[in-house]
Amino acid sequence: MMKPNPSTESNSSKNLDSASSSDLHHAVDSIGSVDNAPTLELHHQGLTIDGYSRAAVQSYWRVAELKIGFDLGAQPWDFMSLPRYFISHPHLDHIAAIPSYVARRRMMKMDPPILYVPDYAAATIDQMLKVVSRLDRGRMPCKLISIRENQEIELSRELVVSTHAMKHSIPALGFIVWERRKKLKTEYLQLTGEQIRDLKLAGEEVTTETRIPLVAYTGDTAPEGLDRNPEMYQAKILITEMTFLAPDHRKDRIHKDGHMHLDDFVDRKNDFKNEVIICGHFSVRYNRQQIHRLVDRALPGRLDGRLKVWI
Ligand SMILES: [Zn+2]
Ligand SMILES: [Zn+2]
Repeated sequence: MMKPNPSTESNSSKNLDSASSSDLHHAVDSIGSVDNAPTLELHHQGLTIDGYSRAAVQSYWRVAELKIGFDLGAQPWDFMSLPRYFISHPHLDHIAAIPSYVARRRMMKMDPPILYVPDYAAATIDQMLKVVSRLDRGRMPCKLISIRENQEIELSRELVVSTHAMKHSIPALGFIVWERRKKLKTEYLQLTGEQIRDLKLAGEEVTTETRIPLVAYTGDTAPEGLDRNPEMYQAKILITEMTFLAPDHRKDRIHKDGHMHLDDFVDRKNDFKNEVIICGHFSVRYNRQQIHRLVDRALPGRLDGRLKVWI
């Protein structure tokens, strides 16, 4: 069943991204859910990405299996069980639902969530929660953690999130979620289990760590943000923005405002090694048909079907 979508005409159509994707769906309703915000959904290699993003409207993303959310421009009721969000930057279309998310989890007797927020915004977000708490007369229990670029945040033994400086009109962060795996060092590959055990007992380090970039999220950025974080081009799934598409929109102005244009993707089409490239955050000046048409004209085949138009 499709989610009703009162806010935009585009998502009320069943014919979603028909040119390039059969695996992108409107999220299926679960029992007891409330349809308060639109979402689209994509499955790739055991990961489910769902969310929505439109410039100046709202951006929010979830990777359910990793229990991670990115940005809180709105908070779909079904996303409430996510214990942690990473906030890219404090523009309103990325943070407006922080108070709702925190309050709803309290109301549903869930643990206080963890919010990773850019350091320069942390104190103000804390004040915002206090002000809303006074108005609402309800507590806002959450853990606000200040982050900045070039940090690593360990979520578990297997998962690490790295933070990256993007290029936007205000300081903004992007994120990569890495899977860590221990691998037996090549020089020990021929040994028996017993020999390896003996080496371990002797204090030898028999494994090396390998990291796989599972998901990268750029938030809002000019192409420079991607270019100076080349690991993002290697992530299995890249979630990024393509705010502008029309040929007559001036690129220098768009880059100065910290956004990307369809032409930036054409210029970099050989750089994207990602298995899936999700493009969202389209400007509201384009309708759905225009977006599909412009993408197909500039990138026929949509980068071998890897580029997903999130509309
Ligand atoms: Zn935005
Ligand atoms: Zn922004």
